[in-house]
Amino acid sequence: MNVYDGQRIATMLNKHGFEQTDILTDADIIILNTCAVREKATNKVFSALGRIRQAKKPSALFGIVGCVARETGGTAFKRIPDLNFVLGPQSYHKLPEILKNPDTKLLNIDLTGLEKFDELPQMEKSPAVAYIPIQEGCNHCCTYCIVPYTRGRELSRPFEDIIKDTIHAANTGALEICFLGQNVNGYKYTDETTGKIYRLSDLIKETAKLESIKRIRFTSSYPTEMTDDLIDIFKTEPKLLPFLNMPIQSGSQNVLTKMNRPYSLDLYIDIVDKLKSARPDIQISSDFIVGFPGETDQDFEQTMEIARKIKYINSYSFKYSPRPHTAAALMKDQIPEAIKAARLAKLDSYLNELQRAFNESCVGKTMECLCEGPDKTGNHIVYRTPYMQQCIVDAPKDMPVKQLVKIRITDANKASLRGEVIN
Ligand code: SAH
Repeated sequence: MNVYDGQRIATMLNKHGFEQTDILTDADIIILNTCAVREKATNKVFSALGRIRQAKKPSALFGIVGCVARETGGTAFKRIPDLNFVLGPQSYHKLPEILKNPDTKLLNIDLTGLEKFDELPQMEKSPAVAYIPIQEGCNHCCTYCIVPYTRGRELSRPFEDIIKDTIHAANTGALEICFLGQNVNGYKYTDETTGKIYRLSDLIKETAKLESIKRIRFTSSYPTEMTDDLIDIFKTEPKLLPFLNMPIQSGSQNVLTKMNRPYSLDLYIDIVDKLKSARPDIQISSDFIVGFPGETDQDFEQTMEIARKIKYINSYSFKYSPRPHTAAALMKDQIPEAIKAARLAKLDSYLNELQRAFNESCVGKTMECLCEGPDKTGNHIVYRTPYMQQCIVDAPKDMPVKQLVKIRITDANKASLRGEVIN
């Protein structure tokens, strides 16, 4: 989501005559696009702002956009008095106002719903992977999560607007479409004139018709929104990648209830089984939170157990971090930091083992991979497999780099694959 927001902000500023620079001291405007999901991220934003104000040109404007802006609001100006703007995730399209009045302070953290999608200019050239948000906000209200506060209630964008964006991306260079939403598989749009209801499966079907689009994926999915129409698409649509991020968060029924994620483990396992019957080569990734208030050793062992059972790849795990405006932050039995750290280390080490085993199982296979660009040395090209693994190949000599290629995997470790292009 933040990658998308960043791309749209860059496009908007291009229209105002700005270009991107990596050199902080050259910049006329510095924008920190922020995430408030965990406390650490928020702290990092303020220490970065401190560094930026020391290093930047005195005339340069600087500020924050995104969820930390929404979380802190006007108090950010108290912490950093010379800050110029604070714009929430649904109001960053107002950024040009500060260019008109650089001597004022611009604060807008309104939840304006889908307004920004109508206001932001289209990118002239799409990257190979086009991120297309299909909804804003989330209605699930997991007790640990700040997203319903920072991004508001869940709204699905009109079907035809999304398809318009998808066609534009396809016509300007996209090969892969990644649909985005906090609860992406909960997408539901009713056309008021016809009464027809559109779901994510309809978006996938329509997108798959575009000749130049070769790969489709979506993130992030809520387990119980994985409806049969969507599971079936994995069977019938080869452009849909065989990889799905479907966070379980915890393997303990107790903890899930306290998290207000009211699905049973049996149901989750059943959904995974259905997905595997629809697409036998599918792999699942998850997000996990350890050390949620009240989590016992036994609860944590159940999380280890579910990871063993599902054999997740490419997963993320986090120590629970209390966030403002959330119910879990007020729960009494908060877990000591040292226990959270020990559980995270144990889970991470197992998830890494699973990743290594999956990567090793890919050696000898051929996969169609999408180019991400050269590595830092320029001697290698980094590709993404259908499972979002990084695959590194030697840069071709005296030949243009192909965007979508078949690669035979020759070697693997925990972090990445090596391979050779075979077409
Ligand atoms: N709906 C989005 C949520 C984005 S947050 C999604 O499913 O991706 C990404 C992950 O951050 C969540 O899945 C969760 O595992 C983690 N997370 C969210 N709030 C957290 C908190 N308070 N502490 C620790 N991790 C958290």
